[in-house]
Amino acid sequence: MPAEHVETLIVGGGQAGLALSHMLSRRGCEHLVLERGRIAERWRTERWDGLRFQFPNWSVQLPDFPFVKGDPDAFATSAEIVDFLTAYAAFVDAPVRCGVTVTALQGREGAFGFLAQTSEGTIAADNVVVATGPYQRPVIPALPGGTGLYEVHASRYREPGQLPRGAVLVIGSGASGAQIAEELFRAGRQVYLSVGRHRRMPRRYRGRDLIWWLTTLGLDQTPVERRGPDRSLPLITGAYGGHTIDFRQFAAQGMTLLGRVKTALEGTLEFAPDLADSLEFGDAAYRAFLDVADAHVTRHGLDMPEEPGARLAHPDPPCLAQPVRRLGLQACGIAAVVWATGYRCDFSWIDLPVLDAGGEPIHRAGITDIPGLYFLGLQWLSRMNSSFLAGVGDDAARLADHIAARRQAGVESSAALSGGASHR
Ligand SMILES: Cc1cc2nc3c(=O)[nH]c(=O)nc-3n(C[C@H](O)[C@H](O)[C@H](O)COP(=O)(O)OP(=O)(O)OC[C@H]3O[C@@H](n4cnc5c(N)ncnc54)[C@H](O)[C@@H]3O)c2cc1C
Repeated sequence: MPAEHVETLIVGGGQAGLALSHMLSRRGCEHLVLERGRIAERWRTERWDGLRFQFPNWSVQLPDFPFVKGDPDAFATSAEIVDFLTAYAAFVDAPVRCGVTVTALQGREGAFGFLAQTSEGTIAADNVVVATGPYQRPVIPALPGGTGLYEVHASRYREPGQLPRGAVLVIGSGASGAQIAEELFRAGRQVYLSVGRHRRMPRRYRGRDLIWWLTTLGLDQTPVERRGPDRSLPLITGAYGGHTIDFRQFAAQGMTLLGRVKTALEGTLEFAPDLADSLEFGDAAYRAFLDVADAHVTRHGLDMPEEPGARLAHPDPPCLAQPVRRLGLQACGIAAVVWATGYRCDFSWIDLPVLDAGGEPIHRAGITDIPGLYFLGLQWLSRMNSSFLAGVGDDAARLADHIAARRQAGVESSAALSGGASHR
């Protein structure tokens, strides 16, 4: 017999788990949050020291709880985000048990609901919400032959001094790769950056931050059905006061851009001939955004100064005219490799038929076909901003409504059953 029963078990004490806790409390629904580490653990231990939140302070908020800290146009440190989430947990009085890992989740035999095996025993729950994060297990592609060098994934990178002296190869050009490459370059390292497809956006345009534009244009509300094949989120940075990421500019300053890594053999890496395509893809996304913003200004007759400079492109860097296809790591003095190649989900602990062949959960906006089982906080759960700190509240409210309605339906059906019994 399980020692404990809760109505709703929330797995994960990050922004998603805490926002849902608040929403359930507001609806009078009993629940418990289990967090294997500390509140906001990933912001404490899986982010590098120089990272800045990519959204300006004025836009940072959780339901009923704005971030009020310093300059509204500045970008918070990870430590400030940890403080914010910790303060939120206290504000909403979330029932969080830290240091407890959920190791397995099964259905209850012969009864509805679930059994969660945890590092501190078994808990039965009518509902389970999996809020274990969109970025769970670091991905490092298999590279037959390897590099033979010091290697670190972005989630374990902390600061330039952690890497052996010498040049650095950064593989990946999402937000992590672009920002770590810039940090290393500014620290005086020679940097080689392997660039893939990306969707870069201006940090600011016509006097407003990108986040203002995304909200004003409703782009952050783009529903998952209209997402298209490209799942990537806008490539931006809040570091160094926040600026537009432009790989051509990085190259003009002295960084060496490369295509995607294909193979490694005896310390030599081979790169695909796709650098020009990747840069053009990123530039096209950037220009398309400017077009949409300009059209909005014209349509609404807004008084926002034009910014022709935003359309000036840096000239093609030499690495486009003569792309590097093979790189001898030692010959180039490369001493370390930073893998900024993303993350996967890890739901291997869920022993229920809710995952597809790739291990991704099957759901509609977080609601699965298994009654009472939910996911929250995943990228594009229902909309573009589902995994954003300021966006998770809407999904949390919707799931809380669903859970409250299930509870109400349960109350009504047991009332009907007991009413029926008394008539017999
Ligand atoms: C480098 C980087 C920079 C980012 N910058 C931004 C940004 O600027 N703005 C922004 O909005 N987003 C940013 N993000 C994304 C943001 O960090 C995530 O979207 C956010 O953390 C998701 O919150 P969450 O609560 O869904 O998940 P998480 O923050 O990942 O929280 C999940 C929690 O679940 C716990 N957990 C996991 N498994 C178990 C288990 N089995 N049992 C118990 N507990 C468990 C974990 O310890 C963790 O604390 C960034 C992500 C990265 C990687």
